[in-house]
Amino acid sequence: MSTQPTGTELILDCAGLTVLIAGTTTAARRTVRRYSAGGATVRRIATPGQFHPRLLDAVSLTVVVESSDDVGGVIDENSWAPLREACRERRILTASEEAAPPGGRVTLIGGGPGVEDLLTVRAKQSLREADVVLYDRLGPYRTLPQLAPGAELIDVGKTPGHHPVSQTDIEKLMVAKAREGHHVVRLKGGDPFVFGRGGEEVNTCVAAGIPVTTVPGISSSIAVPAAAGIPVTYRGVAHAFTVVSGHQPLTEQELDALAKLGGTIVVLMGIGTLPQLTSGLRKAGLASTVPVAIVEKGYSPEQRTTVTNLGEAVTAAGLARCTSPAVVVIGEVVRQHRDFQATLEQVLSRPLVVS
Ligand code: SAH
Repeated sequence: MSTQPTGTELILDCAGLTVLIAGTTTAARRTVRRYSAGGATVRRIATPGQFHPRLLDAVSLTVVVESSDDVGGVIDENSWAPLREACRERRILTASEEAAPPGGRVTLIGGGPGVEDLLTVRAKQSLREADVVLYDRLGPYRTLPQLAPGAELIDVGKTPGHHPVSQTDIEKLMVAKAREGHHVVRLKGGDPFVFGRGGEEVNTCVAAGIPVTTVPGISSSIAVPAAAGIPVTYRGVAHAFTVVSGHQPLTEQELDALAKLGGTIVVLMGIGTLPQLTSGLRKAGLASTVPVAIVEKGYSPEQRTTVTNLGEAVTAAGLARCTSPAVVVIGEVVRQHRDFQATLEQVLSRPLVVS
């Protein structure tokens, strides 16, 4: 187990150690959580008046958390002098840390398509500094205890057709936690502004007067086709790509516009509406032979690509039992698929192309 103070590269292994943390409750909350997460037995004093030399028995490290604007009361740094002196006498290492900045804030983070090494450096840094993380299951949630060792982790995940926490409640929780003075990280799959309701969450924070920043993420709309070897653009083949949501069926005008535009069509949340989409695009003029790839669970050990065409896509997806999360790619670029060696007939006779 290890602990990482904000803004430094210091990593301490404190399993089995007793650590005395001195500092007011609000100022020291992140330090206490971090050392507890690092395996230390934590002893706390909030004011210099609470210090007694016996408290240092079995203590290996004392951390003084300095704060000038703590809501729990301002403590003059010099008041910790007797504690520091007692530690010196007993040769107990003493570290000083700055308090967590006062006031709550929210950071919206794009978590990428689900694996930790596709998080950005900035996203990792924000997670390390988080007091609370609201996450769902499209981002890299499995390693959150290590990525955000000092944070309370709250699963607000939605699986299709099942909404454990409504969007309104997520936003209320986000605001409430920030108003308690916490740094709240809202970790979302892919990029927060691509079908992620990130815009709404930013507006809620702004309306509530809470400082909010965003960290972009790698969107599944580009990264998941890439995981199957499919470039969304290709010189001479597709010089545009359109990302659409399949959450609701597209209108006739939208389908017409898509068919006329040419280029690659990338569909997120498209498994449920695949029948309307494929028949609509054919009615709008696309040939039934236009290649289609359905890439499920990108970047996970269960990643699977089903290659078919517009005329056969619904049958192929049914035979292969394709499920969410999946990205559907429609267009000639699908021929770049790594395993796209066989003819469509051969592919359809074995609809599962596993990559
Ligand atoms: N903001 C996200 C998209 C959210 S909508 C982004 O930028 O990626 C959720 C949809 O994204 C899913 O239904 C699926 O279509 C797609 N998706 C996200 N991660 C995926 C993954 N690892 N594999 C396949 N599809 C994924």
